[in-house]
Amino acid sequence: MKKLSEKTYTERFWEKVDVPEQKDGRCWLWTAGKNRDGYGVFPDGMKLVGERRAHRISYALHYGIIEDRSLSVCHACDTPSCVNPNHLWLGTNSENMEDMHRKSRRPAVEQSCKFDRIPEEVRDHIRSLRDSGKNYSNIARTVGLSVYHVKRVLGASEILGKN
Ligand SMILES: [Zn+2]
Repeated sequence: MKKLSEKTYTERFWEKVDVPEQKDGRCWLWTAGKNRDGYGVFPDGMKLVGERRAHRISYALHYGIIEDRSLSVCHACDTPSCVNPNHLWLGTNSENMEDMHRKSRRPAVEQSCKFDRIPEEVRDHIRSLRDSGKNYSNIARTVGLSVYHVKRVLGASEILGKN
């Protein structure tokens, strides 16, 4: 039997994604099998990047293998079947989330991606880094979130009239 190369897996992965002609921020939807939570599933992703869920595979292909597999890959667009790397960000894992994960025996991704689950100390850290003049990508690297998310945290603090 012919052994499929890594490239072939990658190609087969993207064949199942509906990538819009104009990459203008729209979702890239997974068109093949999904799990009960609506996440795309691509079992061969295990051989490719050690992940089965399509959005995690897309994340790993664009940003690198997720070393800590307990970390969640979250959707900024709240569309579980979306694999647009610009909509994906690596979530944080507080003890609380790990605890919920253990109890429910479900992937942590479902519980830990809500915006309000970013711990207040992480938000404070983001704000103080911003106050000290750091730019978005610098802050994002420091706290381990995406630039998108850093902007959202800062935006929210402004909207809420933070002193
Ligand atoms: Zn999306």
